[in-house]
Amino acid sequence: MRKTALITGVTGQDGYYLSRLLLGKGYRVVGLIPPARKSSIAKLGQLAEQIETYIVDLTNADWLTEAVEQLQPTEIYNLAAPSFVPRSWEDPLGTLDLVTGTATRLLKATRQLGLSTRFYQASSSEIFGDVQSAPQTDETTFRPKNPYGAAKLHAHWTMVHHRDRYNLFACSGILYNHESPRRPPQFVTRKISLAAASIKLGLSDQLSIGNLDAKRDWGYAGDHVEAMWRMLQADTPEDYVIGTGVLHTVRDLVATAFDCVGLDWQKYVASDPSLIREDEHFQLVADPSKANQNLGWQPQVSFEQLISKMVNADLERLKAGDIKPSGATLKAQTEAQTEAQTEAQIKNT
Ligand code: GDP
Repeated sequence: MRKTALITGVTGQDGYYLSRLLLGKGYRVVGLIPPARKSSIAKLGQLAEQIETYIVDLTNADWLTEAVEQLQPTEIYNLAAPSFVPRSWEDPLGTLDLVTGTATRLLKATRQLGLSTRFYQASSSEIFGDVQSAPQTDETTFRPKNPYGAAKLHAHWTMVHHRDRYNLFACSGILYNHESPRRPPQFVTRKISLAAASIKLGLSDQLSIGNLDAKRDWGYAGDHVEAMWRMLQADTPEDYVIGTGVLHTVRDLVATAFDCVGLDWQKYVASDPSLIREDEHFQLVADPSKANQNLGWQPQVSFEQLISKMVNADLERLKAGDIKPSGATLKAQTEAQTEAQTEAQIKNT
């Protein structure tokens, strides 16, 4: 029988790559979309024609339960979350309700309906926060440092409690930064790929960046969603950290991106102290050996290939006039305007 996957957060970067993967495997893919985000379906581009969408308020338990009852999903992927971590300070309670509340409501619905649905909870390396040791595993102490991390941790424990008490097949993927051409430009990888492409095409002449020494474990979103799917195909439900296991600095990122377009980054990039974050964590790096051993998972796209994919996609989109260049104009815009612009402009990448 054809499997049904139900996905929250389907119009985000991960929702796109996961849907593409599952459609390729013959799944029926259903995305739950909040009424206020109806227009974001356009972000799925051509995939929108192959995905069924249900308009559901994720904060409404009855509405959500009704959707689960009607769809009887084989698998649920709970990806919905605010996309940009620093913004969670502006609405900590809303973040908690969306992240933890949605996980709780979905788990409760599955249990009450007596379904054998397999449940994936999108967790985040932000739950490690103030890390004391590196690399991290799913056994490492959790010390989140912001409302987003705290909400993701609460959702993680809620999932663990439901799994233990009700014997559900549920698991968390604790994902490190994962990027793609579909990343919005407020994230540093996309900010840099867009700037390198814009400067190459003569559409911009500078890039202001925060801390060049900041480090992250950056992987490719397409690889990370494969791990999500593998977790739900395993014999037993377990939690995994998913990352490349390799740290790079923002300086590496800039150098690699500018290298892709044959430019010397030092001529164009300046560090702006106002962009430097105070609560920075430098040692967030995964130990993905458990995912490798149990799931046979390992990243397929290298750091260099990832950055090249992003820069080339931005070059193409700028040439086609699908997006606006980065630089002075974009810098003057607010983050919200930038995100709205990207959401309207991103096509099938
Ligand atoms: P995050 O890990 O989810 O916060 O992803 P980001 O892409 O926003 O940030 C990744 C890292 O890049 C963090 O350590 C940031 O402090 C660092 N960084 C340095 N300069 C910038 C910048 O100009 N913008 C952003 N977004 N991050 C920057």
